[in-house]
Amino acid sequence: MDLASAGSDIERVIVTQEQIHNRLAELALQVEKDYEGREVLLIGILKGAVMTMADFARSLNRHIETDWMAVSSYGSGTKSSGVVRILKDLDRDILGKDVLIIEDIVDTGLTLAWLKSNLESRGTKSVEILTMLRKPEAAKVEVDVKYVGFDIPTDFVVGYGLDYNEKYRNLDFIGVLAKHVYS
Ligand code: IMP
Ligand code: MG
Repeated sequence: MDLASAGSDIERVIVTQEQIHNRLAELALQVEKDYEGREVLLIGILKGAVMTMADFARSLNRHIETDWMAVSSYGSGTKSSGVVRILKDLDRDILGKDVLIIEDIVDTGLTLAWLKSNLESRGTKSVEILTMLRKPEAAKVEVDVKYVGFDIPTDFVVGYGLDYNEKYRNLDFIGVLAKHVYS
């Protein structure tokens, strides 16, 4: 869905579709170089990372494997709770694997800090993180994120996989949700 169709629900655009695709191409080159001669397993975090995974995986000019996990950290609101629950676990064992987590956004960092140590505890060879967005000013815990699409302000954003109450995931850009939608 484009901006015109989303109408007044979007206060302003943060990242356009073109910026997303250009940035993913840059990150793909970096990942190809960093993982040269090694196998890599991309683990997408449902549902927010679906678009990032789909586009990033296709930007990579090399073989990869993919798997998915679903965790809950937010409930239906706009604030992170810090309580992480696994809703869907990986299909396969990741012992000895080089893992690259694919996320939509690092907000407080609580979800990824928990997820990273959870995956490391399964005997992986390495666990790195790629996120489309990061809100540096919202960080509550230090998480080492190797690949970042864009650093953005703390506003609540939607689109390109990110939702508010399961809506707006299909926007082809990322924008700030207008306050009237949730207040
Ligand atoms: P964290 O634990 O605070 O880093 O939050 C991580 C999760 O919260 C992300 O994977 C998103 O699903 C959700 N989230 C955080 N900020 C936003 C936002 O601005 N819009 C939509 N979802 C968000
Ligand atoms: Mg998420």
